[in-house]
Amino acid sequence: MLRLPPFKYHRPDTVQDAVGLLAEFGDAAIPVSGGTDLIPNMKHRLFTPAHLVALKGVGELKGIHAGDGELVIGAAETLTDISLHPSVRLHFTALADAAGHVAGPQLRNSGTLGGNVCLDTRCTYYNQTHFWRQALGFCLKKDGDVCHVTKVGKKCVAAHSADTPPVLMTLRAQMDISGPGGDRTVPVMDFFVGDGIWNTRREPGEIVTRIRVPLAQSGANGDSESGMGYELRTAYVKLRQRQSIDFPLLTVAVAADVDSENRLHSLRGVVTGLGARPKELTGWDELGEGEVLTDELIDGLAERAFKQCRPLENMIVETEWRRAMVPVHVTRALRKLRRCDG
Ligand SMILES: Cc1cc2nc3c(=O)[nH]c(=O)nc-3n(C[C@H](O)[C@H](O)[C@H](O)COP(=O)(O)OP(=O)(O)OC[C@H]3O[C@@H](n4cnc5c(N)ncnc54)[C@H](O)[C@@H]3O)c2cc1C
Ligand code: SF4
Repeated sequence: MLRLPPFKYHRPDTVQDAVGLLAEFGDAAIPVSGGTDLIPNMKHRLFTPAHLVALKGVGELKGIHAGDGELVIGAAETLTDISLHPSVRLHFTALADAAGHVAGPQLRNSGTLGGNVCLDTRCTYYNQTHFWRQALGFCLKKDGDVCHVTKVGKKCVAAHSADTPPVLMTLRAQMDISGPGGDRTVPVMDFFVGDGIWNTRREPGEIVTRIRVPLAQSGANGDSESGMGYELRTAYVKLRQRQSIDFPLLTVAVAADVDSENRLHSLRGVVTGLGARPKELTGWDELGEGEVLTDELIDGLAERAFKQCRPLENMIVETEWRRAMVPVHVTRALRKLRRCDG
């Protein structure tokens, strides 16, 4: 039985109080939302905070509503509520799908969107008990000075393993953040960095308060030159060992504006589960802009994705197999995009 280390639990009612508590206790405090990742990690002694600042009771972090051309989702909304919400399902099917495929039902009932976008990176050599990691001499990300995956350098390549960020990136979503320095907004696309030790641009003491997804992209996105309306289509697929519960070994999110003749505009693809941050697939517009999504085009896009993705030995499955799965899952995502209506 793994036990939690001792800590003090704080339950602020407002964002201001939560930020104040985090500032007061500094490095000794960590925010917790659903706790579905942080608590197991504390049991593994990956984190031993003296103070937990609970965000789930903060009313300002709740709610899903449309306003000012965007869908606003509070950071403390649960993944279950997001996956079932009519507006999310209507406008952003891939987001509902991704939220509904995180972990298993009990974890989604507690796990939140804020916790998902701030999820710690994962690695075979890191997500282990203290005893296990000690036997190996620890590693760069926690208590050690060597990376067992790369064997060289000072950068951790643990995998970004959250399902919703790739979708939010293809949707050009923004996140609002509050901290001791005030409030700021960061595009989800720019939030992640390539070092698995701390793979986000979130500063110490900051909390994510809400995610805003532009609604203008869904429905009639006007093309100023032709006057044609675009329809936003989104799709998401996930590779994991057990469909019922596991973290992704690979996630692919795709989105495109599609005109009335089924031609693609602004095709976007993001892959995650491979390295420390989600990877935007590049060069897709060169192949896809103004084209209909034929099988040949899908093959070309999948081949391009394969060339851009090189998984490392940060997970328990074989890297070459995981790489081979990239074009398979990109193909599945694009076929899903071709079929879906929104
Ligand atoms: C068996 C199992 C399977 C899982 N499978 C998946 C999976 O398939 N896909 C997946 O994406 N995840 C998976 N998870 C991880 C987790 O359940 C989800 O990512 C969940 O969304 C985390 O949200 P939470 O609210 O529980 O986060 P918490 O555990 O509360 O927090 C996670 C991290 O985010 C920080 N944090 C939380 N909220 C905020 C905020 N508002 N602002 C700033 N920082 C914040 C915390 O400090 C912590 O570092 C799995 C977990 C388990 C135990
Ligand atoms: S990638 Fe390297 S440094 Fe990072 S958790 Fe794994 S072994 Fe540790």
